[in-house]
Amino acid sequence: MKKMALHWKILIGMLLGAVFGFLMVNFSGGKELVSDWIKPFGTIFINALKLIAVPLILGSLISGVSDLKDISKLSKMGGKTVMIYLTTTIIAVSIGLLLVNGIKPGNSINESTRSDLVSNYAESTQKYKDEAANQIEKGPLQALVDMVPDNIIGASSENKNMLQVIFFAIFFGIGLILLPEEKAKPVKDFFNSFNEVILKMIDLIMLSAPYGVFALLAALVVESPNSDLFAALGWYAVTVVIGLSLMIAFYCLMVFLFTGVKPKVFLQEISPAQLLAFSTSSSAATLPVTMERVHEHLGVEEEVSSFVLPIGATINMDGTSLYQAVAAVFIAQAFGMDLSFGAQLGIVATATLASIGSAAVPGAGMVMLVIVLSQAGIPEAGLALIFAVDRPLDMCRTVVNVTGDATVSMLVAKSEGKLGKPEVHEWDETYKVDH
Ligand code: ASP
Repeated sequence: MKKMALHWKILIGMLLGAVFGFLMVNFSGGKELVSDWIKPFGTIFINALKLIAVPLILGSLISGVSDLKDISKLSKMGGKTVMIYLTTTIIAVSIGLLLVNGIKPGNSINESTRSDLVSNYAESTQKYKDEAANQIEKGPLQALVDMVPDNIIGASSENKNMLQVIFFAIFFGIGLILLPEEKAKPVKDFFNSFNEVILKMIDLIMLSAPYGVFALLAALVVESPNSDLFAALGWYAVTVVIGLSLMIAFYCLMVFLFTGVKPKVFLQEISPAQLLAFSTSSSAATLPVTMERVHEHLGVEEEVSSFVLPIGATINMDGTSLYQAVAAVFIAQAFGMDLSFGAQLGIVATATLASIGSAAVPGAGMVMLVIVLSQAGIPEAGLALIFAVDRPLDMCRTVVNVTGDATVSMLVAKSEGKLGKPEVHEWDETYKVDH
């Protein structure tokens, strides 16, 4: 009998988790039961994914870069990757701005809803403002300084130092390229096998994905704020979701035009990563699965996927930048402000930079939104307006962030002649044998 595809299993796990959460809210003690006995399994699942991130980047990037054999190839690919990432981000921000100016969701917020929202969420938003203030205090070149670790063990001990680990792995890979073949071979062989082991571990973790997402969704539902003010934000949420959907359509089109892979196949093969992005709200936690899907199921050779995807997870966040643009203008509209064309252009620039600076973890986009707001002269207190719906929108924008990275890796692979035949197709016999 044909085995059920992984994305269906994950989807069923998510739906059952959400339904279970809704049921439990109605029982006394149900909420505590989910928090105490179900949620921990979700946390274990996310931890297992995060656990893999640093070794995966080290293993795959070192073996990927050293396979390039030539440093000029690396810098060519690097330049191309960053250019495409920047272009897609600017497109995302522009789509967001067009939509929010057309739909004008902020006009549906009246004076009293606005002050209710601001007073309800004032305390929660303070945390985000403090974090943003921390970021602003640092000098303009701090991001560059932060990229170079002074201690690789220290850097690998914190998942948020992903760029530092990437820097080390690329540097190490370059060292390997420059060594004579016979000296480099043992180290290369070691990292190749190391990488295989990590990929196997991801397969094993993914076996538990349907249960992991069940726990995550059940916990999310019982813990979500039960606010009547939710409805007032309907138009804002709809605007963000339309923008995000357009981005997914845009990616499918790009993939089809440049690689010939049909949208159905692209979405089917990348969907486990998308579903995990949705359940975890973290592109960093999803990275191992994105890498596995793109390499084994979409045919992107490892030299490209191991380079493009970890960088993308940290700097390319099209969903986040689109959301920041919509949110900033929505808040301005709700406060009755008229933003000039110049101010909107400023938002394109700051939202692009802010999304690059956002960490790939839940809620990071909101911290950087504070910076976009203050640059555009929009009241930061407005953050409170969008707080109630931020988590569901975070889940959706993370899906776009991850899909964007996968898309760019396919485009770069195609242009480098490194888009081969996928090793595994879910509908293939090989899938059944291998997994
Ligand atoms: N949660 C997003 C991510 O990890 C970042 C954000 O927009 O908050 O990709």
